[in-house]
Amino acid sequence: MKQISIALATALCLAIAAAPANAQANRNLDIYFLDMAGGGSTLIVTPLAESVLLDTGSLEPQHRDADRIIRACRDAGLKQIDYLVTTHFDSDHFGAILEVSQRIPVKCFVDKGSLPPDGQNTNWFKRLYPLYQQATKGQVKTLRAGEDIPLKNDPGGKIPPIKLHCVASEKKIEGFEGDIDAAVAGCQIRKPDTSDNARSIALVLTCGEFQFFAGGDITWNVEHHLAHPVNRIGNVDLYQVTHHGLDLSNNPLFLKALSPTVCVAMNGPRKGIEPNTFKALNALPSIKAIYQIHYNTQYGDAGNTEPEFIANPKEDPKEGQYIKVSVHPENGNCTISIGPGGPKRTFAIQ
Ligand SMILES: [Zn+2]
Repeated sequence: MKQISIALATALCLAIAAAPANAQANRNLDIYFLDMAGGGSTLIVTPLAESVLLDTGSLEPQHRDADRIIRACRDAGLKQIDYLVTTHFDSDHFGAILEVSQRIPVKCFVDKGSLPPDGQNTNWFKRLYPLYQQATKGQVKTLRAGEDIPLKNDPGGKIPPIKLHCVASEKKIEGFEGDIDAAVAGCQIRKPDTSDNARSIALVLTCGEFQFFAGGDITWNVEHHLAHPVNRIGNVDLYQVTHHGLDLSNNPLFLKALSPTVCVAMNGPRKGIEPNTFKALNALPSIKAIYQIHYNTQYGDAGNTEPEFIANPKEDPKEGQYIKVSVHPENGNCTISIGPGGPKRTFAIQ
């Protein structure tokens, strides 16, 4: 893949940061978890109305995921996406990128800088990757562990500082130089994961006292080293349940290190939120609510939260309702609703 230089990309991104097109300041930090029916797409809109889209769902069924992303952008009042981050190259995370970029301008594309070593010869990759190249036109910023996406902050200091920081990318962790797959005495390390999941970009968004973790589809051993022996992230208020809630991820050691107050699982009707993950989340003393994008048809009560926390209770809903989290950094609360008009619940930030 053609990469632009970091200096050029940073200059480009800083220029964008200096002049966001979505001029209407929002004051809240809004996070929309979009129904990609088992894929990934999360839209972040900062208090200064900058926007970050993490992943773009699947190409098929045709238009479904792009329609849902564009609808969320419209509900958020966006006229452009400032940063579009592709966490990794799986079909459920970048499939709709071309259609999305044709329907709303994208100012800066971001990815982890290399293609999946194990999956480049698959038919779906050969079909989707040219669409990615067409969308990005080869202008992509590589995001490495330890780097930030340079979001704009309030020069007057009235809005609490906001920071979007990459803690893992390409199976490398900020501050850890060792072998991620090497055995660790007294801990469960799994067989090396050679898939692109382990190489996902993992991000921590901080706004004042509020912290949100979104780790794409990173798997068990990467999670281990983010949590042990040093808790490199600390506690978070909001956790996007990693890898749709699959047991390949969601290492209990990591979940305990994060100790989230609320979590949202990007599961599908028949994908994700597996019983071990669900049990581990429920066992966290910190957890106040588990939200799911979908009802899980596979595991009954062993894989489903209470109905009022499930955005899409039907197997194939036409609407594809999102979950919206509005963070009010100044008063220390976040409010969560299902869809634009659904009932709201408020949780205190830790
Ligand atoms: Zn995925």
